Amino acid sequence: MKYDAIVIGAGMSGLAAGIRMAMFGKKVCVLEKHTIAGGLNSYYQRRIKETKEIAQFDVGLHALTNFATKGERRKPLTKMLKQLRIGYDEFELCPQSYSLIDFPGKQLRFNNDFELLKNEVYEKFPSEIDSFNKLVEKINNYNELDLNATYISSREVLNSILHNSLLVEMLLAPLLIYGSAWEKDMDFNQFVIMFKSIYMEGFSRPKGGVRTIIDKLIARFKEEGGELKFRCGVEEILLKDNKAIGVRTTKGEELFAPRVFSSAGLPETMELAKKEVNAAVGKMTFMEAIALTERKPTKSEFDATIVFHNSLEQYHYEGAKDFFDSRSAVVCCPDNYEMDNRDGHGCFRVTFMANYEKFKALDRSAYLEKKEEAFEQAMGIVKKLAPQYEFRTVLKDIFTPTTVERYTWKKHGTVYGSPDKIRNGKTDVDGLYIIGTDQGFLGIVGAILSGISLGNLYGLMESE
Ligand SMILES: Cc1cc2nc3c(=O)[nH]c(=O)nc-3n(C[C@H](O)[C@H](O)[C@H](O)COP(=O)(O)OP(=O)(O)OC[C@H]3O[C@@H](n4cnc5c(N)ncnc54)[C@H](O)[C@@H]3O)c2cc1C
Repeated sequence: MKYDAIVIGAGMSGLAAGIRMAMFGKKVCVLEKHTIAGGLNSYYQRRIKETKEIAQFDVGLHALTNFATKGERRKPLTKMLKQLRIGYDEFELCPQSYSLIDFPGKQLRFNNDFELLKNEVYEKFPSEIDSFNKLVEKINNYNELDLNATYISSREVLNSILHNSLLVEMLLAPLLIYGSAWEKDMDFNQFVIMFKSIYMEGFSRPKGGVRTIIDKLIARFKEEGGELKFRCGVEEILLKDNKAIGVRTTKGEELFAPRVFSSAGLPETMELAKKEVNAAVGKMTFMEAIALTERKPTKSEFDATIVFHNSLEQYHYEGAKDFFDSRSAVVCCPDNYEMDNRDGHGCFRVTFMANYEKFKALDRSAYLEKKEEAFEQAMGIVKKLAPQYEFRTVLKDIFTPTTVERYTWKKHGTVYGSPDKIRNGKTDVDGLYIIGTDQGFLGIVGAILSGISLGNLYGLMESE
C-alpha cells in the first residue's frame, strides 16, 4: 500500500500531524500499536465492586495547560483549535479553581489570571518582586519556539535574576514535574514554554476528560479522509539509501510512503530504523495512586485543583532512588475544576517520582505490595492537605513506570522522553521525522502543536 505519509502512534502529536496532512489532501495512515488512541494520555474504565458502577479514568490527565477563553486570539490553545478546525466549545473546558505550590512554611497560589501569582510573590517574597518582574519581562521577550535553540540551564538563568533560593525552587517545581526530561533542571526554552502555559495561561479540563479530546481528534482525522489502524505496531522502519520508504507492521504488512513521522520516541524510533541510537533514555518516570472516594469534598474541605506539595526547602526533581519518592507529590482533585454538578464520587490523583528498574525487578506479589504502600503514603498526603475531609475509598488504582511502558512502549516508562531533543524534528534518515515529546514539545497542547507544525513543515511538500 502506498501513502504520502505514515505516522507512527495515535497519541496527541500523531493524530494532529495526521489531521493537518489529510486536510491538505495527503493520503495519510496513522498506525497505533495499542487498541485505543491517546498514548501517554489515554483513558480506561474499571468496575466499582460495591455498586457495580463503571468508573471512567483518564490515564494521566491532571490538567490541560495553556488555558484561553473563547475568542482570545494568538494563544497556543486557540491557534491549535483553529489549525485543526475544532470549535472552542467542542472541548467543553472547565477552568481550575486555583492551584497551590506548597513548601514548608510557604505557599504560592496561582490560577488562570497571572495577577494572582504576581500578588502572591509580592506578599510572600516582597524583596523579590522587582527581580520577579525582570524574569517575567525576559520570558515575554524570549523566542522559545526557535527550532535551532540549544540547551540553556534554567537554574542558571533563574539564579542570575532571582536572589531567594526558595522562590527559585517553588517556581521550578510545577514546571519540572509537568515537563522536564532532564533531572534537577530543565532547558530554558522548555521553562519559558511551561511558565507561559502553566502560570500565565493556566489549567482547565474538558468536562468529559481526555476522551473528549481524543474522540474529537479521531473524528477530525477520519472526516479528512485519514486512515487509522489499531493493534498495528510498526516493527521496522524501511530504508533505502538512508531514506525512509515505509514501514513493516507487526501484522507483517509492508506500507510505503516517502515520509514517516514518528511519535514513538527518539531512541525507540532509531531502533525501529535499525540505526545507531545516539539519544539517552530519559530517567523521569512516575507512579500515580488514584482514589475514587464515596463523595466529592466540599469547598471548605478542599478547594484547590492541584497541589504541588514538597516537604523540603529544596525540590529534588530526579529519578527516585527508592521505588518512589514521597518527599514530594502532585495532588490533583479533578472535582475542583469549575463544574456545575458536584454529585457523585470524588477523585484524588497523587503522583510520585518513581524508579523503573526497581519496579521492573519485583515479582507479582512484591509489586502489588509496593503499590499498596505507595497508595497508603499518597492517601496520607491527601489527609494532611485536607484534614477536614473524611473520605472512604470505593475504588483504587495505582500505575507504575512498568504500566507506562506496557501501554505506550516508552523505554523505561519514561514520560517526558529523552533528554536529547530534536527541535527541528529531522533525524539522520531522510524523510524520517520525530514528532511530539522528543521534538521537545510535550503535554497535550505541546504534543498537538508539535504534530501540527511538523506536519505543516515536512508533510505538505509534494511527494517525489
Ligand atoms: C501519567 C501522566 C500524566 C500526564 N499528565 C498530563 C497532564 O495533566 N497534562 C498534559 O498536558 N500532559 C500530561 N501528560 C503528558 C502528555 O500525556 C504527553 O506529553 C503527550 O500526550 C505526549 O504525546 P505524544 O504524541 O508525544 O506521545 P505519546 O502519547 O507517547 O504517543 C505515542 C503513541 O505511539 C504509540 N506507539 C509506540 N510505539 C509504537 C510502534 N512501534 N508502532 C505503533 N505505535 C507505537 C504509542 O502506543 C502511543 O499511542 C501526562 C503523561 C503521563 C504519562
